[in-house]
Amino acid sequence: MPTIAPVKITQVYDDIYHFETTVKRMLAIHVSYFIDAPTPVLIETGPATAGDAVLEGIRRVGRDPAKLKYIIPTHIHVDHAGGIGHLASTLPQATFVLHREGVRHMTEPERLIASTKQAFGDDFETDFGPIVPIAKERVMVVEGGESISIDKGRQLQIIYTPGHAHHCLSVFDTRSRGLFCGEALGVAQAGNTDVGPAAIPPSFDPEAVLETVAKVRTLNPDLLFFSHGGPRREVKPLLESLERNTKLYGEIILAGMKAGENPQQIGKRLAERQGARRGGASGEGGGGAVMAYMMYYRRKGVVPS
Ligand SMILES: [Zn+2]
Repeated sequence: MPTIAPVKITQVYDDIYHFETTVKRMLAIHVSYFIDAPTPVLIETGPATAGDAVLEGIRRVGRDPAKLKYIIPTHIHVDHAGGIGHLASTLPQATFVLHREGVRHMTEPERLIASTKQAFGDDFETDFGPIVPIAKERVMVVEGGESISIDKGRQLQIIYTPGHAHHCLSVFDTRSRGLFCGEALGVAQAGNTDVGPAAIPPSFDPEAVLETVAKVRTLNPDLLFFSHGGPRREVKPLLESLERNTKLYGEIILAGMKAGENPQQIGKRLAERQGARRGGASGEGGGGAVMAYMMYYRRKGVVPS
């Protein structure tokens, strides 16, 4: 299996490290976070091809990957959780924390493999590596509301944050007051507080994104640890921007559907309204977003299929 190397390491909090790798075929960089607590935790495995680079990152900050206790992918898309099977065989002591809705796709990944082929092509394994199933016994199933103790007085709280997909969870660290939000709060581009929803087929749900934004406001984190991007402190403007853009995209796309326009025409309108704001991050804007919203409105019966 080809390995992506080397990993770029940035310390983003006292004991939290940001590991960055690039995956061919993805416009956004891939990120994992390592929490070097007495109970060490990895957030996001990345694809299988990133697995060894992530383990090397842990070694480079002076820790032994064999001590990793919890591995928490924010959701089961291949760029976040594809490496589960590879890491499960390399790290027999680790427990994998997965949302209830995503577990089946990792223990019996046939459907996940089929949808990954749709998104990235039949040969996705060339760049992402194989999606290998994980045994049920290795999984801690969560649905939001659980807490994992990683140090005296320090918890990781599991927050259910659907919208990007229905199996998205986020992880709130009570010490850094940082929220590992995966793609639930979109894809934030460096130096820019303008963030749009990570809208991709098939289960994107803009209403759920708005509910997730409200939930995160109540939680009031000091930091957002994005999985495509990095740590950000401008929590309030980022959430406002995501809320505004999630609604705006919906209005544009729904108007186009009601006017009988095709996805290309609607995509053009969306691009015009987005103006100069988009550099084209993974899963955000463009044709994927149009299809994701169109599927949502048809599923909801807002526009007949
Ligand atoms: Zn995703």
